[in-house]
Amino acid sequence: MPFTAEQFGILAEKTLHFLLILKKNGRIVAFNNRCEILFPTNEIEKKAKYITDYIIDDDVKIFNQSISTLTHQNSIVSESFSFATENLGVLALKFNLTFHNDLIYAAGIDTTEEYKEHRALMTISKLTKTGAWYFDPKNDEMYWSKGCYHIKDLDPNTIMTRALGASFYSKETRARIESYLDNLVKTKKPYQYTEKIVTQKGNEKWVKVVAHPVIYKNEVIYVNGTIADVTDRHNYIEKLKYNEETKNLALKGIQSGLFDHHIEKNEVFYSVDFKKMLGLPLDHDFVPEETFREMIHPDDVDGAIETHIHNLEKEGNQYFNQYRLRDKAGEYHYYEVHGFRRKNNSGETVRMIGNLIDVDQRIANEKTIIESKNRLQAIVNNGFAYTVLLDPKGQILMTDEKSLKIIKRDFNVDPTKNSCLFIDVMPLNFKNTFAHEFNEALKGHTVKKEIERITNNGNTQWLESKYIPIYSQEKKINSVLVSFHDITEQKLAEIAIKQSHLKEQELNTLKSNILSNFSHEIRTPLNGIMTVSKLLLDEKEPKEIKKLLAYLEESKDRLLETIDNLSNFSDLEAIKSNLNIRKVDTNYTVETSYRQYKHLAEAKNLKYDLELDDSCPQITIDEELLKAALNNIVHNGVKYTNKGGIIIRVNSEKSKNNVYISVKDTGIGIEKENLKKIFDPFMQESIGINRRYEGTGIGLSLSKRYIEILGGKIKVKSKIGKGTEFIIIIPKCL
Ligand code: ADP
Repeated sequence: MPFTAEQFGILAEKTLHFLLILKKNGRIVAFNNRCEILFPTNEIEKKAKYITDYIIDDDVKIFNQSISTLTHQNSIVSESFSFATENLGVLALKFNLTFHNDLIYAAGIDTTEEYKEHRALMTISKLTKTGAWYFDPKNDEMYWSKGCYHIKDLDPNTIMTRALGASFYSKETRARIESYLDNLVKTKKPYQYTEKIVTQKGNEKWVKVVAHPVIYKNEVIYVNGTIADVTDRHNYIEKLKYNEETKNLALKGIQSGLFDHHIEKNEVFYSVDFKKMLGLPLDHDFVPEETFREMIHPDDVDGAIETHIHNLEKEGNQYFNQYRLRDKAGEYHYYEVHGFRRKNNSGETVRMIGNLIDVDQRIANEKTIIESKNRLQAIVNNGFAYTVLLDPKGQILMTDEKSLKIIKRDFNVDPTKNSCLFIDVMPLNFKNTFAHEFNEALKGHTVKKEIERITNNGNTQWLESKYIPIYSQEKKINSVLVSFHDITEQKLAEIAIKQSHLKEQELNTLKSNILSNFSHEIRTPLNGIMTVSKLLLDEKEPKEIKKLLAYLEESKDRLLETIDNLSNFSDLEAIKSNLNIRKVDTNYTVETSYRQYKHLAEAKNLKYDLELDDSCPQITIDEELLKAALNNIVHNGVKYTNKGGIIIRVNSEKSKNNVYISVKDTGIGIEKENLKKIFDPFMQESIGINRRYEGTGIGLSLSKRYIEILGGKIKVKSKIGKGTEFIIIIPKCL
């Protein structure tokens, strides 16, 4: 029997239900008294109000969504909304919404307590990244809470099946994961596992799954489970594992053993590695100190103990010791002890934890390196060359003893102790070419170069420098070997050979000079004499006869002069021992020579002057020798001058002791390079070009020797094409 309207009115007012009638847009049309705790009812009567004005923001969306699904066909939905009330705080109401005649009839019950619990669980699930699930084995039904969906980055509206759940695991593990659940149903035993999944979005995650059976009448009717995202923890554990592994590998790699020494108790705990390393029994944690001491090399015991005591007393927390220890095979190895000391309040070391490291191989390597370095140094020192090894920046890596000495002496640096660029300590003469040669070597070329330098003692030294690139195992140039080889001896020998070749050539030329000079100088006047004598026999004219006789005289003089010169040249010693020394008037002697060549100068239309010294300087000499010397020079002046003239001067004012006789011409001059040679016997400057001037080439050499016999000197100044000046300097007294 249906309610009467009165019965219904009472029921509606007395019920604990919240009853509301709403329009489809949520506007409140009617409500029972119970709703007064949700909103001020008088307000609603005055103004049109919507239920969404009182629902908390988060739930407005859910409300709108629920209403939108309400149609005449689908006329009932049930959903929970929370209301922010003035007096009771947030109230959670679960409503049944019925759609009838375009109005919504809402009947709600207070679920605030359950709601609070639910929210709290949701929060836990969110914070711990956990989800809950259950499985009904009878219907093969799988339920996932929102947390499960969240972990798998999956839309919560997706319908869950066992197959979908398994699809997030890798193909290889899928069957195993499925078998866990089947086994649980069979064995009724809970299980748990941690596995990797790949989420819907492709992220890799590690999940821990726990499953418990719910048993009814000895049969599993449900499986309750959780799933937790343990990626962070997993990664952390992996990292820890990795670190632990790294530590173990590192310790194994450096062949070390750990120890922990309680000094007060005098107990030493040794790690397994330690005991293995030294061949100690593995079943004993502690090794008596005496046993340990016996293992130290007898030569090292005292030092080790001393260092140990010193270590314990010193400041800081570090501990270091080193000694040789006997291993299980009875062989001694070098060990280093690196430790950390813990101190008590009074600063005494009470505990020490450390590492014993086998450094035998390192020490052996160091020894080998030092030995090979010494051998290399010995080779470098005893080589014939100066040797320097440079790094690619030009810094000295190694050098031989001789070079080291020189660098230390000249630059006051020791490249074996302080880094030093070779360019800063090399002799000046090398600097110009060094950079170029060094760079070439860095490009991989071996370079050779000869250098001439002046040594500290002022001697010339020739060095052959060699730049050789040196390659590392990776085939990169890591250094350049620069060596300087002293080739002075070789160079000097080469020069001597060259010079002797030249001398030989010169001598050959000289020989032919002598021959041609003399044949010319003898044949010309002889020819003259022969021709003139023939002519004389036929000549009747006294005037012509006189002329011919004069020619005859001239040829005779020339022949005599040549023969005289020749005999004088070979007879110098005789001249020296038969000197006729007496006081002579220089002006007079010079004038005699001047006169002798006057006619010759005039015949060539040359100016021919004489300037005598007014003080009439007297000299004590062999006059004949001076005259002979001077004659040659004056004769040459006239002979080698074609225009201008010759001036002869006597001067004694410049010096108290000497008289200067100068013969200056404006003739052809002498090449600079020949100036020295003209005093060599049989040298004629003009020979090189062609023989244009008469003469034997011994005149000047005789003049020089004569003047030297008289204690004097001859000097010559000349400019090619401009003229020549010979100056005879004669001491007033011999
Ligand atoms: P020569 O008999 O050839 O003149 P000398 O010994 O007198 O021999 O001279 C040697 C060389 O010196 C000459 O051949 C000539 O080339 C050069 N010489 C000497 N005096 C002069 C001068 N006054 N002017 C130019 N050349 C000269």
